[in-house]
Amino acid sequence: MRLLVVEDDPDLNRLLTTALKEGGYVVDSAKDGEEGHFLGETEPYDAVILDLGLPEMDGVTVLQKWRKAGKTMPVLILTARDRWSDKVAGFDAGADDYVTKPFYTEEVLARIRALLRRAAGHASSELECGPVRIDTRAAKVTVNGAVVKLTSLEYRLLAYLMHHQGKVVSRTELVEHLYDQDFDRDSNTIEVFVGRIRKKLGVNVIETMRGLGYRLNPPGENAGDADA
Ligand code: CA
Repeated sequence: MRLLVVEDDPDLNRLLTTALKEGGYVVDSAKDGEEGHFLGETEPYDAVILDLGLPEMDGVTVLQKWRKAGKTMPVLILTARDRWSDKVAGFDAGADDYVTKPFYTEEVLARIRALLRRAAGHASSELECGPVRIDTRAAKVTVNGAVVKLTSLEYRLLAYLMHHQGKVVSRTELVEHLYDQDFDRDSNTIEVFVGRIRKKLGVNVIETMRGLGYRLNPPGENAGDADA
């Protein structure tokens, strides 16, 4: 899951970015409204944290432009405690949720998890596929109750497929949602990571769709998967 943080306060930006990275997400950050708007319009984010008081272009304008351009990713706005009218303007511009400053990063993380799972149509923070279960609060993976240790990239890949269970996800889509903007992206490495995840899980839940990508299904529903 790839996120964007748009916040001009450098300390706050760093705090959020660090906490989200530790939470298992890929995070890009922008320090003003123009940069944030550009990134949100050109990169495929799974969710965005957007401060409303920004230099160059204010947060409400950024959000309005994204929505006008057809960008539907969930957006969590950051507002000042006493500015209730900001929240109204934010929601009217297309925000999905808000947090008032000062905030606990734990609350921001919980709200982001909720936005991500709602966007993917899930009601719980624990996602499961047959014997495979991921706890998105702790970035923990278990198979039949036994903990499986994955690297952060492997976790992100599995979590992305878990959020989009049953759908075909292309390698390009995975690359776009697993790496930040500065990463040298090579979709061939995805195959390698999928192979490692399959090995670590020990159960066949990731189906290779030749020429299309991958699909996560409970075991037994992956008939015809030559890579299993
Ligand atoms: Ca600000």
